[in-house]
Amino acid sequence: HAKQAGRNRFFQFDAASERAAQQVLAHTARLHTALTQHQFVLYLQPKVDMRQGTVIGAEALVRWNHPEKGLLAPGSFLPQMQGTALETIFGAWVVDTALDMAVTLHNHGLLLPVSINIAAPHLQQADFADWLAQRMACYPQLPKGSLRIEITETAALYNLEPVAQTLLQLREMGVCTALDDFGTGYSSLTYLRRLPLETIKIDQSFVRGMADDAGDLAIVQGVIGLARSFDYRVIAEGVETVAQGSMLLQMGCNLAQGYCIAQAMPIEEFIEWVGRWQAPLPWQQP
Ligand code: C2E
Ligand code: MG
Ligand code: MG
Ligand code: MG
Repeated sequence: HAKQAGRNRFFQFDAASERAAQQVLAHTARLHTALTQHQFVLYLQPKVDMRQGTVIGAEALVRWNHPEKGLLAPGSFLPQMQGTALETIFGAWVVDTALDMAVTLHNHGLLLPVSINIAAPHLQQADFADWLAQRMACYPQLPKGSLRIEITETAALYNLEPVAQTLLQLREMGVCTALDDFGTGYSSLTYLRRLPLETIKIDQSFVRGMADDAGDLAIVQGVIGLARSFDYRVIAEGVETVAQGSMLLQMGCNLAQGYCIAQAMPIEEFIEWVGRWQAPLPWQQP
C-alpha cells in the first residue's frame, strides 16, 4: 500500500509539474509575441548632478504596453523570462533600442550616455562582451561612452574572474559598469574589490530610510565612503524628496535619480524635460 501511495503521489506531483511547465511555456510564448509585436518600450529616467544642476545621463527602464492590461512594470514580467532563451533575445532588444535612443538624443544635441540594466546571468555568458561589441558595431556614428551598463542581480555572480575580464573588455569598448542596488540581495564587498567597476548605486531602500533610521543612514554613509576609497562614482537611487537630496549632498553624494527629479518617461518627453530642468533651490550653489 505504501508503494501504491508513493506511486500515486509521484503521479500527482508529475501532473502538477507538467501543468506548471506548460504555464511557463505559454507565458514565454506570450512574452515572445509581445516582443515581436513591439509591445515593449524603454522609458528613460534622468540621472542628475544635484550640485552642478546638470543632467548627466539616463537609465533605460522597460515597460510592457499590454494590449489589455495597460502599461506594466518590469517586476510583473521580467522574472518569468529569467533562465529562458528569451532572456538573451530580450537583452538584445534592450541593447538595440537603447542604442537607437542614444542616436536620437545625439540628434537632439544631447550627448548623454544611456544606461541599460543587464541581468547577472546574461553578463556571465562567456561571449557577452563580443556579443555587445557586435551590436554596437551597427552604430559607428555613436561616440565611445554612449552606452553604459548596470549589473542587476537576479542571482549571485559566481566565479568573479571571468566577469572581471568581461568588464575590462567592456571598459576598453568605452562601456562603463555600475553595480546596481548595492547593499541588497547578493551584492557583496568582494565585488567592489575584484571587479573593475566605475559606479556604485546606493539602493533606494536605504535612501528611503536614512532620515529616520540610524542603520540606513550608516549604510548610506558607508557606501559613500567605500565609493570614495575605491575611486568609484556613487549614485543615489530613489531620491523622492528635496530634503533627501540635500542630505545626500551634505554627505558627499552629488549624483542622483528619483521621483523628486523625474520618473522614467518616453524619450520624446525626456527630451523636453531635459530642456526645462532646473535643480531645486536648496541644491544650487550660492
Ligand atoms: P533598478 O535598475 O534598480 O531601477 C530602479 C527602479 O526604481 C525602477 O523601477 C524605477 O522606476 C524605480 N524608481 C526610480 N526612482 C524612484 C523613486 O524615487 N522612488 C521609487 N519608489 N522608485 C523609483 P522599474 O522601472 O519598475 O524597474 C524595476 C527593476 O527592473 C529595475 O531596478 C531593474 O532591476 C529591472 N529592469 C528594468 N528594466 C530592465 C531591463 O531592460 N533589463 C533588465 N534585465 N532589467 C530591467
Ligand atoms: Mg538599474
Ligand atoms: Mg537599482
Ligand atoms: Mg532594483
